[in-house]
Amino acid sequence: MMNFFRFLILLSLGVFIAIFSYQNMTEVQINVYQYSYKLPLFVVVFGCFVAGFLIPTVYYYFKNMQMSHDINFFHKILTLYSKGSTKNLVNLLKKHIKTKHFLSVLLSEVYKNSGRIDEGIKILETVRQNQSSTFIEYALGQLYFKKGLLDEALTCLRHSVSFDFKNIRAHRLLRDISFLRGNLPETITTQRNILKIVEKEEAKKEGDIMGSLLAYASLKEEDIKERERLLKESLRYSRNPLNITASILLNLEKGKENTAQQLFEESFHNGMQNGVIALLLNYEEKLPYFLNIIREKEGRINLEILARAYIALNMYEPLQEKVDALPEYIRVMVEVGESHLEKDKRCFNALKEAYPLWECKCCGTKFKEYTPMCTNCLKWNCIDILSVKG
Ligand SMILES: [Zn+2]
Repeated sequence: MMNFFRFLILLSLGVFIAIFSYQNMTEVQINVYQYSYKLPLFVVVFGCFVAGFLIPTVYYYFKNMQMSHDINFFHKILTLYSKGSTKNLVNLLKKHIKTKHFLSVLLSEVYKNSGRIDEGIKILETVRQNQSSTFIEYALGQLYFKKGLLDEALTCLRHSVSFDFKNIRAHRLLRDISFLRGNLPETITTQRNILKIVEKEEAKKEGDIMGSLLAYASLKEEDIKERERLLKESLRYSRNPLNITASILLNLEKGKENTAQQLFEESFHNGMQNGVIALLLNYEEKLPYFLNIIREKEGRINLEILARAYIALNMYEPLQEKVDALPEYIRVMVEVGESHLEKDKRCFNALKEAYPLWECKCCGTKFKEYTPMCTNCLKWNCIDILSVKG
């Protein structure tokens, strides 16, 4: 069937050419420089037609050659990379880096993976003097960060996002390092930028990070107006123990004890009571406001946190009946506290130092105080109370 159609098409094409040629046999004069030809018109028309096909064909033939050459080159790089033959790969990349700047990123990656950070920095520093780009700056920022040169890393990452605002990896590293440097305003600004460009699938996670980051900043802020503003924004993103605790503390400061107690009680409804109490342990002087609720809802509080709260309040009596269920180090505390009886907080403070309450669920690092980002593995919202895992 197909052959028949092809035959029909070819036949009609042949008939068309034959008729066209027959009707256009008049000779026309064609001049090229001093030469002059007389050709039938149909020859000129078909000649132009063939040339029209020939030129792009030749063009694409050479373009294809260039492309397959490039593909072979990248295939070679990939083979060397996956085989792990670092020496050959480095040589090959070095040879082509002058014409293909972007290869410096790959080269720096190879250096980074084999621990040759300084060589990677050297290459990228040289390349960026001629021509820089968002990924060269990002790669360099990563290397400086690996080397512990945080300020240099920050400069590169700021360049990286100025070249391409949508480089989310650069934004993320910029955010994490800003946090490590204790620069909360820049951390927040960067997180705002991340939220502008993040893909739908990750928007929730980044929003949660924004929620805890703003709450953390609110807790660290001294100006009450600014604290309120940060907290309000934080609550728009998520509800977490951190911003509930910040709300409680803010209300206490404003003399609204009832609202604070109400918020504290509410934390039991959404299962955040352990986190809230653990955070409030850093504000011991505020704990008495919540003593009644704590006593009333004892059974719903993690035993270790409950014990710490009672010890912070210098109340050993309610712990007596629970002593067998308590972890060893708290039992010791209860006994020491009982024998001293006077309001000596030194033991309690020593305990806080020796037994951190927080742990990063991602890398296992322990922290004395809550922090929204793990300063060891740079993961966000991965820190939880040590004994309330999973
Ligand atoms: Zn960690």
